Amino acid sequence: MFAGPVEFVKGVVAMDGLPPADRIEVCFAGRSNVGKSSLINAMTGRKALARASNTPGRTQEINYFTAGEMFLVDLPGYGFANAPVAVVGKWQALMRSYLGGRPTLRRAFLLIDHRHGPKPVDDEIMKLLDRAAVPFQAVLTKADKVKASERGPILDRLRGVLSQHPAAFPEILVTSSEKGDGIADLRAVIAGLGRD
Ligand code: GDP
Repeated sequence: MFAGPVEFVKGVVAMDGLPPADRIEVCFAGRSNVGKSSLINAMTGRKALARASNTPGRTQEINYFTAGEMFLVDLPGYGFANAPVAVVGKWQALMRSYLGGRPTLRRAFLLIDHRHGPKPVDDEIMKLLDRAAVPFQAVLTKADKVKASERGPILDRLRGVLSQHPAAFPEILVTSSEKGDGIADLRAVIAGLGRD
């Protein structure tokens, strides 16, 4: 469990809006609809903490939460079908400056829908994470939607992709916000980072 209540701090659209980097932070990234809000809510034990960000208008916002001594950072979802080039460019610029500009950022959690496995657009953020040298860990979401017999090949493919990325941890977390699977493990990983 996190040492303290989880509170929403602010949503920011540019680097100059970020809160002071006065504590350790971890961030969460993933395609829109990957289940990021649900995961953050499940992890923090609150129902409506992370607002669902399923409209393109909300995609560019970085949402900051405090969890005890740490910040949890909900990054804007990506991979909207038919997103205008300008929107994608703005997202990339924001991600580049965020990932490269927060010395207190300990780890990024990259959420991937277990049903689909990694997509080419996930590879783009993995490259940004590599370039910024931000260690990242893959978190599979919606595991309850995948039959046990189908998990192996998707995990193998993800392992193959992660092995191409120097900033990636080989360990993969498998979660279901719906069933609660893997949530305690993810919380424990984050709590461990806060103690370092
Ligand atoms: P976000 O856009 O990444 O924040 O995604 P949301 O958290 O809003 O989730 C997108 C959709 O996936 C919603 O309809 C959720 O109810 C559903 N969802 C999220 N997590 C899970 C899960 O663990 N299992 C199942 N079955 N559905 C989920």
